[in-house]
Amino acid sequence: MAITLKSRREIELIRKAGAVVADVLSKLQEIAEPGVTTGLLNSVASRIAADAGAEALFNGVPSPLSREPFRGAICASINEQVVHGIPSETVVLRDGDILSIDFGAKLDGYCADAAVTIGIGKIPSDRRRLMDVTRHVLDIAVAKSAPGVKWSSVAAEMQSCAESAGFSIVKDFVGHGIGRKMHEEPRVPNFVSDELLAGDIVLAEGMVLAIEPMINAGSSDVRTLKDGWTVVAEDAKCSAHFEHTIAIVKNGCEVLTVK
Ligand code: MG
Repeated sequence: MAITLKSRREIELIRKAGAVVADVLSKLQEIAEPGVTTGLLNSVASRIAADAGAEALFNGVPSPLSREPFRGAICASINEQVVHGIPSETVVLRDGDILSIDFGAKLDGYCADAAVTIGIGKIPSDRRRLMDVTRHVLDIAVAKSAPGVKWSSVAAEMQSCAESAGFSIVKDFVGHGIGRKMHEEPRVPNFVSDELLAGDIVLAEGMVLAIEPMINAGSSDVRTLKDGWTVVAEDAKCSAHFEHTIAIVKNGCEVLTVK
């Protein structure tokens, strides 16, 4: 399938959606602390998006596994939850948790998507290291992405960074093109596979991609809970997730999900 290249004007529109996403994530980082529910974080995200005239993209997404569409503006995934945790007034953050918050917004017809993992209260050093390495793996992708670069070479560095730290890259979920729709071609894996090598992506000016490494402290195996959404590490060890929407530009790339 074809990858749509975006014009400079379209990239600026995605950047505006990205600023709303960045705003939401930074506000949620400020207020997330022991005793706060993920339902409260969700309400705050919804309000900021609505005030900015943006649509929260995850709300109502149909599940491949259940009849229940996703209910929430944010995904809030705690500790061994990898992605797609459902925010709830009954889920209370505790001291020492790590919380991955994923948020996507559409503004004036264009989408942006980003995620962060944050520590709640005082977190153990092994959890801090998992978050730091995951953040660094995303930074590698931002540093290396440029026109003419083969994505497999970027993915190889991301994977080796995670694995040399003793962690594993989640294989069941990957990044994606983004633009008028939240999920566009291509699929953007954070690891090298035969599939990627057979159909490698050569980065080109105008590509806009959501890069989103998910890294497990233990094995890369994951499963989905009965709610049809929450993905957890099979071995119940912690997982972290960072994501930015980036645009490939003349001399490299620009991160669009920043304020
Ligand atoms: Mg995404």
